[in-house]
Amino acid sequence: MKMAGDKDHVYEGLKTIVGDAFVSRDIEELYMYSRDPGASIPRNADWVVLPNTTDDVRKIVVLARDMKIPVVPISGGLTLSGLAVPVKGGIVMDMRRMDRIVEVNEMSRYVVVESGVSQGKLLSFLKENYPMLRHSMPDAPPAASVVGNTLIYGSGHLSKHGAHSEMINGLEVVLGDGEILRLGSLAVSPYWFGRAPLPDLVSLFVNWFGTTGIVTRLSLKLYPAHPLRDMLIFLVQDPGTIPEAVSRITATDLMEDVLIVASRPPKSPSVISLLTVYLTAETPEELDFKKELFVDMFKDFGKEGSKIVFTPKEMLPQKLVHGFMEEPQYAAATADFKKGGGFEYVGVVLPLSMVPVAWKKGEDIAKKHGFDPLYTVRNVGLGHSVVFAFAYPFNRADEKSLKRSRDALADTNDMALEIGGTPWKSELEGQARIMARMDPMVLSVMHGIKKVMDPEGIMNPGNWEHR
Ligand SMILES: Cc1cc2nc3c(=O)[nH]c(=O)nc-3n(C[C@H](O)[C@H](O)[C@H](O)COP(=O)(O)OP(=O)(O)OC[C@H]3O[C@@H](n4cnc5c(N)ncnc54)[C@H](O)[C@@H]3O)c2cc1C
Repeated sequence: MKMAGDKDHVYEGLKTIVGDAFVSRDIEELYMYSRDPGASIPRNADWVVLPNTTDDVRKIVVLARDMKIPVVPISGGLTLSGLAVPVKGGIVMDMRRMDRIVEVNEMSRYVVVESGVSQGKLLSFLKENYPMLRHSMPDAPPAASVVGNTLIYGSGHLSKHGAHSEMINGLEVVLGDGEILRLGSLAVSPYWFGRAPLPDLVSLFVNWFGTTGIVTRLSLKLYPAHPLRDMLIFLVQDPGTIPEAVSRITATDLMEDVLIVASRPPKSPSVISLLTVYLTAETPEELDFKKELFVDMFKDFGKEGSKIVFTPKEMLPQKLVHGFMEEPQYAAATADFKKGGGFEYVGVVLPLSMVPVAWKKGEDIAKKHGFDPLYTVRNVGLGHSVVFAFAYPFNRADEKSLKRSRDALADTNDMALEIGGTPWKSELEGQARIMARMDPMVLSVMHGIKKVMDPEGIMNPGNWEHR
C-alpha cells in the first residue's frame, strides 16, 4: 500500500522529469483517463504524465520501477476494449506530446514516427509532403495513433498487404527496467528498413498491450499512393457466399481492401449486407479495367437469393452510402442515438472459410440479447484471414443497457473461441477466456518472457495476467 508521502514523492519526481505543466493528479483530469469510449469498467489513475522524449519515458519508468507503481501507456486511447484503462491505478503515461514524424525514406518506403503521432497527422503529412506515398489507415477516428493501432494488430485500407503489425520495420522501446532497445535493422544498421534477417524481437511488443515495454518510436512501411481511387459496392444476398466472393476478388491482387458491412440502417426494416471493393489506379483506363473485371466477376455468380449484386453508388440511398462507406464515425453515431451512447465490439480473427458460421452464431447472440446484427468483416492479406467485428451499442447512462452489451461481448468471445477464431485486442474478460483455453506451454512461455521484460510487473498490469 502506498503512503501519502510516497504519493507526494512520485508527484514531485514526475514534475522534475517533465515539468509542472505535464503532470496532473487533479481528479477532473484523471477522470478522462479512467475510461475509454467502450463498455469497460472505469478505474482511477493516480497520476497522468506526458513525456516529451525517450529519455523522459526512461526516467518515468525507472521512477515507477523503484516505487513499484503501475505504468499504463496510452497513445490515442481509442481501442474501446479498455486496454489503456489503469486497472490497478498508478501512472498513466500519455504519449501524445511525442508526435514527431522523425524520418521518411522515400525510396525504401518507410516512415519513422514517435508514439503520439496520430493517424490523421501522418495522413495529412504524407499528402502534403510525399503525395506518392501512403500508409494503411484504419477506419478508427483520426485521433487514434499510428503506434497504438499498429501494436494491436490493427487493419485498414491497404488490407491486401496484411495486418498493420506486419508492416512494422522496427521499434524503439523502453523496457520495464528502464533499458532502451532498438529493434529491427536499426539494431545493426543506420537504416530502419526491415526486420529480417535478424531474430525477430519486434513481436515481443505486438499484441502485448504495453505489458512488455513502452514503444517510443516505430518504423512503418509505406505504400504507393495512386492518384485515382474508387469503390464498387455489391449487395450480398446470402452471407454463405462471402468466402467464395472474397477469395475470387483477392485472387486477382487488383484491389486494395475488401470490407463487408452488415447493419440495419436507421428506419430500414431489415439488415443489409454490403461488400465494398476499394480500387486505385494510375490512369482512368486502368481504373475502368479493374471496375469492369470485378463487375463481370459477379454477373453470373450464385443462384436467385444467393447473388452478389453490383449496385452503382447512385442507386443506393445517399444516406446509406455516406453512412456505411465514407464516415468511419458512422458506427459511433449509430450508437449515440440514445443519450450517453457508446458501442463496443468483439473483433475476431478468423479463417475466411469460417465467416458464414460466425455470421449465423453472431445472429443468435444478437437475438438472445435483443440486438440487431451489426457486423464488419475485413479481408486481411489476400484472403488469408478476416477480422470479423460483432458490435453492440449501449446507453452509458443506463446500467442495464451496459450489462446487456457486456453479456453479449462475453458470449461472442466464447463463441469465437469455440469456432476456432482468435479474439482481437480483447478486454480483460476476453483475455481471461483466451488464457483459459490457451496451450499451457504457450502461457508459461508468455509469463517467462514477461518476467524478463518487466521484472517488477509494473507495465500495464492486469492485462495478460493469469487470475
Ligand atoms: C468507430 C471506430 C472504428 C474503428 N475501426 C477500426 C479499424 O478499421 N481498424 C482497426 O484496426 N481499429 C479500428 N478501431 C479500433 C481502435 O480505434 C483502433 O485500433 C485504435 O487505432 C487503437 O489505437 P490507439 O492509439 O487508440 O491505441 P491506445 O488505446 O492508446 O492503445 C492500445 C494499446 O496499446 C498500448 N499502447 C499504447 N501506446 C503504447 C506505446 N507507446 N507502447 C506500448 N504500448 C502502447 C495501450 O496501453 C493499449 O493497451 C475502430 C474504433 C472506432 C471507435
